[in-house]
Amino acid sequence: MTTNLSYWEKDVYVNNLDVVIVGIGFVGLWTALALKNKHPKLKILMVDQGVVPTGASTKNAGFACFGSITEQLENLKTLGEEKTLEFVKNRYQGIETIKKTFNPKQIDYFNYGGYEIILNDHSQNRNWLQEVTTINSLLSQVLPLKNTYQLKNSKIKQFGFKNVNQLVFTPSEGQLHSGKLLLALKNKVENLGVLCLQNISVDHVVSKRQAVDLCLKNGGILKAAHVVICTNAFTKSLFPKIDVIPARGQILLTEPIPNLKLKGCFHAEAGYYYFRNLDNRILLGGARHKSFTSETTTTIETTTFIQNDLKKFLYDIIIPDLKFKPKIHQSWAGIMAMGSEKTPLIQEIKPRVYTAVRMSGMGVALAPVVGEKIANMFF
Ligand SMILES: Cc1cc2nc3c(=O)[nH]c(=O)nc-3n(C[C@H](O)[C@H](O)[C@H](O)COP(=O)(O)OP(=O)(O)OC[C@H]3O[C@@H](n4cnc5c(N)ncnc54)[C@H](O)[C@@H]3O)c2cc1C
Repeated sequence: MTTNLSYWEKDVYVNNLDVVIVGIGFVGLWTALALKNKHPKLKILMVDQGVVPTGASTKNAGFACFGSITEQLENLKTLGEEKTLEFVKNRYQGIETIKKTFNPKQIDYFNYGGYEIILNDHSQNRNWLQEVTTINSLLSQVLPLKNTYQLKNSKIKQFGFKNVNQLVFTPSEGQLHSGKLLLALKNKVENLGVLCLQNISVDHVVSKRQAVDLCLKNGGILKAAHVVICTNAFTKSLFPKIDVIPARGQILLTEPIPNLKLKGCFHAEAGYYYFRNLDNRILLGGARHKSFTSETTTTIETTTFIQNDLKKFLYDIIIPDLKFKPKIHQSWAGIMAMGSEKTPLIQEIKPRVYTAVRMSGMGVALAPVVGEKIANMFF
């Protein structure tokens, strides 16, 4: 790219770029949409190193969620009340933005709700009814909901789970098709004039007084007035000191299961396991906590150890009484971005260069709000 280009190619793709967004995942695309909505005349180019976006946005589980009850309790301890509430509010708003921007049918959005399953050995003899009441009252400060969480233990038997002590339901979470959402977003921004080029890898970023040079791995240079880095887990290759730690997430998908009762998005063990219905199959992911060392990587591949752990969770906890063991139809991996804090890194890292990274495994709901924040930071 940028070497051996014709006059016309340069004119269309390269000359007079107002903004280059690096990374065509959810964060890059929502940022492009927010910028175009605010400033329709901006010339925006998006680039991605993958032939298809290759990080987390089309590898995830498609939960449009704002956090399980144990996550809220944990956040209160580690982040404090103000940040916990801000976090929940942003994710709730993000889900609302997705629903306002797209027809549910376009992105297979289903409002089946979310559940946290609390396993017998994790219940800690807590008074869950009291925990639910306290958290609901706190969250009502920022959410238009009275009963965000509700105990639904009667459903444990109905779903057929084993070793489960409590089931905490929230009706306001949904599930979607991440591939369809990404495509719909990309079509939307392209219709607004945003240019998208794939298979372009940025090697390093040089910020100058009037512009920013994006030096590409193939030796070319792209010049822009502003640059937004939306490379999430891969950001350390551009800014080695940034507080971003890659975290691989692995998923398996079963073959179709006749009369599958499971419906909704489920979290267990503080979110380290997550599963949902996908058509009439079960999609199950996680188990990173069983091998943090091997899963702290940007290598996009599955491992036997994690896949076996997921299978055990599937057969022992989710469908212990099913008369047959459904086969695993497909497995895959993607890479999330963690750090010493859970909150996204939205900052001007160098003059005219912004980062919108570190979604802590929650980018589906967070990305629309992160995009808005970036768009409000410049121009
Ligand atoms: C297995 C798994 C399950 C998940 N489940 C959920 C879920 O159910 N709900 C939820 O909210 N979140 C979930 N997440 C997290 C969510 O998918 C991410 O938070 C979100 O997709 C991050 O979006 P992003 O745009 O920041 O990053 P990405 O989607 O990773 O996009 C970054 C892009 O940058 C590109 N790139 C990187 N470096 C360069 C470079 N040097 N030059 C050019 N391009 C570059 C990459 O190719 C990539 O396409 C999950 C993640 C995984 C891996």
